[in-house]
Amino acid sequence: MGSSRYWYRQSENTEEQKEAKYRWTNVGEIMGIKVLVPKDGVKGKLPAFSNTPGTMYFKKNDKGKIDQLRIFIGRHSFIDIDWGHSHKGIPNGVAHVHTWRFNKLTQKMERTKDEFKLLSKYMIKKYGEYILGANPNVKWGM
Ligand SMILES: [Zn+2]
Repeated sequence: MGSSRYWYRQSENTEEQKEAKYRWTNVGEIMGIKVLVPKDGVKGKLPAFSNTPGTMYFKKNDKGKIDQLRIFIGRHSFIDIDWGHSHKGIPNGVAHVHTWRFNKLTQKMERTKDEFKLLSKYMIKKYGEYILGANPNVKWGM
């Protein structure tokens, strides 16, 4: 137990399953949300699936900063709240939402890359204190 707990990236897609070698280590908790970092120096994304339905994970990047909160519905990724990168129109440090959708062409759940939105008041109320608990410098707008 303890540091020997791993998360395995899973997918319904067979090709991705072959590559499902991303392992994650739980390095702590912030306000009850697990903070995961990739093991073995693998630069990666948080697991797309969780064995804990409806959970949330924080991602710690390779610079040791938390830059993402991933929220699951059931065992599937539902939304990512990111603040560690910029987009046209919003600088680094501004929290914004990327939504996961089922792509009928690829038959996979995929994250919207170029499509993002700022957090609604409802979302700030619901998730804001967790995000500020991970990084008090996160902003909700420009
Ligand atoms: Zn983004």
